[in-house]
Amino acid sequence: MTQRSLVLLKPDAVRRGLTGEIISRIERKAGWQITALELRTLDAETLEAHYGEHKGKPFYEPLVEFMASGPVVAMVVEGERVIEGVRALAGPTDPIAAAPGSIRGDYGVIVRENLIHASDSEESAERELKIFFPDRV
Ligand code: GDP
Ligand code: MG
Repeated sequence: MTQRSLVLLKPDAVRRGLTGEIISRIERKAGWQITALELRTLDAETLEAHYGEHKGKPFYEPLVEFMASGPVVAMVVEGERVIEGVRALAGPTDPIAAAPGSIRGDYGVIVRENLIHASDSEESAERELKIFFPDRV
């Protein structure tokens, strides 16, 4: 089942110089392709669309502030079961609960600054890809 996922390497990953390391892990999965990749600083409108499901939650305002605090690497990753697969590489949201060997488990401590976003379902992927790469949908 070939899928597409919207992956963001968050500002902490860019600031800490971890983008190459994280991209390598994605590239090494057999048959997956990065078909778009861009360094960009996200504006409030994009973040509100992207994280709209979390609006009103206590972590929402600090999250969007953090996500606008520096550039992110936005990517489209395509391949076999890539939606579930990048989520597995990333590990659970809380980096302390994430297993060593996962991206969040290896590099993260703070829940907000957990290095990577990856679409969590086909519906989310379709919605998020339209926000970040409207020309490629
Ligand atoms: P994800 O799909 O694993 O990225 O997690 P969610 O969609 O639930 O949350 C989006 C992002 O908000 C997470 O990746 C974290 O950066 C942040 N976040 C989620 N839950 C919390 C929380 O309880 N506290 C804080 N500070 N940040 C959170
Ligand atoms: Mg999510």
